[in-house]
Amino acid sequence: MSSHTPLPMGSTIGILGGGQLGRMLALAAARLGMKTHIYCPDEASPAFDVTPNKTVAAYADEAALAAFAASVDVITYEFENVPAHTAEFLSSLKPLRPGANALAVSQDRLAEKAFLSINRIPVAPFAAITDLDRLEAELEELGAPAVLKTTRLGYDGKGQKIVHNMEDAALAWELLSPKPLVLEAFIAFEREISVIVARGLDGAVAAFEPAENVHRNHILKTSTVPADIKGKTAARAIEIAGEIVTALDYVGVLGVEFFVLEGGKLLVNEIAPRVHNSGHWTEAVAITDQFEQHIRAIAGWPLGDPTRLADVVMENLIGDEIDAIPGGLGVASRPHAYGKAETRKGRKMGHINRITTKKRAK
Ligand code: AMP
Repeated sequence: MSSHTPLPMGSTIGILGGGQLGRMLALAAARLGMKTHIYCPDEASPAFDVTPNKTVAAYADEAALAAFAASVDVITYEFENVPAHTAEFLSSLKPLRPGANALAVSQDRLAEKAFLSINRIPVAPFAAITDLDRLEAELEELGAPAVLKTTRLGYDGKGQKIVHNMEDAALAWELLSPKPLVLEAFIAFEREISVIVARGLDGAVAAFEPAENVHRNHILKTSTVPADIKGKTAARAIEIAGEIVTALDYVGVLGVEFFVLEGGKLLVNEIAPRVHNSGHWTEAVAITDQFEQHIRAIAGWPLGDPTRLADVVMENLIGDEIDAIPGGLGVASRPHAYGKAETRKGRKMGHINRITTKKRAK
């Protein structure tokens, strides 16, 4: 079968990672008549509840990876920290979508910023920090405060520190690893938004409207759509997201996080080569949601329509906030519980989409 032939219904989608994103991808795949095979080292993965096939094995286990690859038609992932060797090994056996280059770019903040800068996409001023002397020089250059970050494995605000002076910076240098680090100018943004964009196997691009994101304790709390930004800022964010997926020759859904500065200037903070928490609102009010869109893209199907049908606020249920289900649900709300066995502080347990406008009567 040519790689451009759409996969038929009944095909099997292999998914690396068994968290809530894998779970929601598997549910979407099932609605399209596809089967899933989820690969995750953690026996207690929430996605295992909703997939007909699973493998519990390490990401370095080549025998298990080969058997997994043999049982599926295409492979995707729900997290960007798939080890490079795992991605290479699997892509030698079956189509890996999005491709290994999307992982390489997004796993490393310096590679990501270099890629964005080469493609003339605006990012916060930054510098690679290899030692304390460089840190001192760059802090002088960028100015305080600044944000010192690890280049790899940072998420939900982990692996970064705001530094106000060299004393702070030296302390943060000791605490953060692995090295090298990246120092970024502190951006006094007005708000944070994200665009979830998809690119099909045929190169077609479809983006959802920007969501406005609010974090609490470094974890996404709400995504509100529409975002409180000008139409031309929204259009520019969508344009930039399209430029990124095209430059990456990307297949699948990708999340782009932006800082919005006074006057509407945009800087890209981060890209994620996967479905994204700030796109969960699409489940309730978009014609095609991000999970279906991702499955369509990687299966070589035509992309769906990302049009939004109503205003919405997505709220993450973190830790024991999950107890809002079922008692605290409003009427115009769509809950999604991830079925995680253990409620832990700071753990994403589910979300609720609250629909805030209704269709007007004629
Ligand atoms: P990150 O892990 O890079 O996505 O950063 C997590 C959060 O930290 C962002 O969503 C921002 O709220 C904040 N942040 C990160 N980098 C900067 C920066 N250069 N200036 C100001 N705030 C930042």
